[in-house]
Amino acid sequence: AGMNFDKYDENVVEVSGLDPPAALMSFADSNICHTLTVNIAKAGYSKPTPVQKYSIPIILAGRDLMACAQTGSGKTAAFLVPVVAQMMRDGVTASSFKEQQEPECIITAPTRELINQIFLEARKFVYGTCIRPVVIYGGTQTGYSIRQIKLGCNILCATPGRLLDIIGRGKIGLHNVKYLVLDEADRMLDMGFGADMKKLVSFPDMPQKEKRQTLMFSATFPEEVQRLAGEFLKTDFLFVVVGRVG
Ligand code: ADP
Ligand code: MG
Repeated sequence: AGMNFDKYDENVVEVSGLDPPAALMSFADSNICHTLTVNIAKAGYSKPTPVQKYSIPIILAGRDLMACAQTGSGKTAAFLVPVVAQMMRDGVTASSFKEQQEPECIITAPTRELINQIFLEARKFVYGTCIRPVVIYGGTQTGYSIRQIKLGCNILCATPGRLLDIIGRGKIGLHNVKYLVLDEADRMLDMGFGADMKKLVSFPDMPQKEKRQTLMFSATFPEEVQRLAGEFLKTDFLFVVVGRVG
């Protein structure tokens, strides 16, 4: 909050793909519900950053997205705002205590710090709604992750290893997943989580890519990330690049 994003030149945003929607000029957009607009303002966000301006309408239009923008450019809200907005629009129901939860959204990032930051931002955006986000990561007791999930889970924020572990234990059903977010895709591959991500999308109850919305974010765009995007995203995905990427 209170950061200066003017250093990110608008002119260096490049959008490729078929029929991209118009950029979002303000968070006070009609497709974002009132509660969420209030929560965005409370977070101290007065106007969208470039990656948010282009990514939010693309995601609200139901399109798959690969977005590349440098660290600190606001990628977290670029996916959280439109995902929460769509869940509110579609009338998500409060999840109750259950042995197996069926989240609408799964977000994965490579480290405990990164996934926890996403979770904390998600908690700000869902304040006053019935959406319950949960965060799980390795290095903690599996039983603790399971207890958090059982209480109700609409948005699951997880590191890859813990996510696969918990799915394997039957604590998370995937058939309800409408939004799959792979954040820090380049670091995910650097850290050797490529196979885990492939495993995640090939569980039998994970909706096929045509039946879910997949959103990938990365600071750089090496060939391996491009290949992953080609594999996980619908063929008509949109590609947003902010500034120069590696
Ligand atoms: P990235 O994921 O691209 O590295 P983050 O999503 O972590 O970036 O955002 C970086 C910082 O900028 C965070 O402290 C976040 O709260 C803040 N931020 C994000 N979007 C905005 C905005 N529209 N206005 C003000 N601050 C913002
Ligand atoms: Mg980030």
